Amino acid sequence: MAFFINNYQVDRKILIVVSSIDDLRKEVAKAKLTGKKRALVPTMGALHKGHLALIAQAMDEADFVAVSIFVNPTQFLPHEDLSKYPRTLQTDLDACKDLGVDLVFTPTAEEMYSQNQYIQFNISHLANQMCGKSRPGHFEGVVQVVNKLFNLFQPDVAIFGQKDFQQFRIIKAMVDEFNHPLKLIMAPIVREYDGLARSSRNRYLSESERKVAPLLYQCIKEIKDQIYQARVYNLSGVTAKLNASDLKIDYLGVYSVKELTLVEKPELGNSYVIAGAVYAGSTRLIDNELIKL
Ligand code: AMP
Repeated sequence: MAFFINNYQVDRKILIVVSSIDDLRKEVAKAKLTGKKRALVPTMGALHKGHLALIAQAMDEADFVAVSIFVNPTQFLPHEDLSKYPRTLQTDLDACKDLGVDLVFTPTAEEMYSQNQYIQFNISHLANQMCGKSRPGHFEGVVQVVNKLFNLFQPDVAIFGQKDFQQFRIIKAMVDEFNHPLKLIMAPIVREYDGLARSSRNRYLSESERKVAPLLYQCIKEIKDQIYQARVYNLSGVTAKLNASDLKIDYLGVYSVKELTLVEKPELGNSYVIAGAVYAGSTRLIDNELIKL
């Protein structure tokens, strides 16, 4: 059955929601039989417009769109916000249904990690800089869960956000080196009206923290302007601004997009990511901008 909204035809679909690996495998097998191109959008839930843009892009890319909603414990460090990470499952499912998602996978941690863990990933220098420096073991947990999700869903396409650029780069390395037969797509960062990158963690911000939070992106843009104007950058001005605000810098710099190494003098013809993380109170905010010289 179909109906029309502003001239767009929307097919009424049943959203399949599964929580067990067995059920997921059955649904994936059925979807494969249809011969439809299948996309996966992995998330930790508490869906916002950034996630929804990824799902919309998945719809453009494929005919069967699956979303995973799983707050993966292995990517949280012991002192991090695993237990208080926002969980809004019913609202998330409603949003997926409205968008026309075909399948949502919502496993428990026990379902995902029911076996002994004899194998661990060990990531190179790609995980030592930027976020990996202050979150040792985080990307190993990300790679572990994404590897499992790729094996379970066997998607043709998987979509991740540029917001987590280091995550995307590391997952790309995993896909290349472990021969996952899929196309990886990086979707642009979706922002609030004032430039703040949308994040499930933004809801932790107090009113005053929320006011100052866009300063991270303003500083990233200032570094970008410096580089475009003079091909050199000096962090002292932006560092002073951040230090004078209520944001505490975790890291801020310019990194090569391939090796994620810190670059002092960007060169013509190369691509870089200007990336940073700050703490607003106890909330960690990240952001970045890609540039090509
Ligand atoms: P998360 O639920 O935070 O693990 O994010 C799931 C996916 O959504 C990841 O690929 C993120 O990079 C992506 N994502 C999160 N926030 C945004 C945003 N503001 N814009 C675009 N993609 C995002």
